[in-house]
Amino acid sequence: MNRTIVLASNNTGKLAEMQALLAPLDDQLCTQSSLGVTEVAEPHPTFIENCLTKARHAARHTGLAALADDSGLCVPALHGAPGVHSARYASENTSAQRDQRNNAHLINQLHGSTERAAYYYCVMVYLRHADDPQPIITEGIWHGMILDAPRGTQGFGYDPLFWLPELGKTAAELDVTTKNQLSHRGQALRRMIIRLGEE
Ligand code: IMP
Repeated sequence: MNRTIVLASNNTGKLAEMQALLAPLDDQLCTQSSLGVTEVAEPHPTFIENCLTKARHAARHTGLAALADDSGLCVPALHGAPGVHSARYASENTSAQRDQRNNAHLINQLHGSTERAAYYYCVMVYLRHADDPQPIITEGIWHGMILDAPRGTQGFGYDPLFWLPELGKTAAELDVTTKNQLSHRGQALRRMIIRLGEE
């Protein structure tokens, strides 16, 4: 089907990844910034609520179908933190050192704990229009462990602490293709592509 879909994200890395994977669908993809849509607040305690808010905001302001994603790291020993606060775990500050500060804060929070299990979670929402009562929703989960010290230089965010025992590497030691094959976002996006293809 030939649709025009607005991507409700301003993260250029994510946009490039989504555009590449969505290319076979034959749909027109536009970024929300190219259509003058500003970022919306994400005040909710769950990923799905924030994701729906982003998709609805983009659909409402453009009159187009919208695709949004929301993701973060969850640590069961910390009751799911950093969770929806993953981007701003250490502070609201959006400086260039934000990832390092978030990682240092996570190491501190887990200091002395032997419960190191963690997972990345991603949810994606597709709205055919702003008042769509039946959004398409897909998810992805990627399990790992949190290290005491960073390893690797690829990726972003918590990747240098996110240890994959079966690979003997952190997510920051994976090339982009391998990360996309395994990651929470890759899983959610592939599931979304199947669902969009079925529409
Ligand atoms: P967003 O709101 O989906 O852009 O992501 C929220 C935050 O979750 C990011 O700023 C990162 O801190 C963290 N995060 C999400 N996905 C990843 C990932 O693949 N690697 C590392 N950190 C991630």
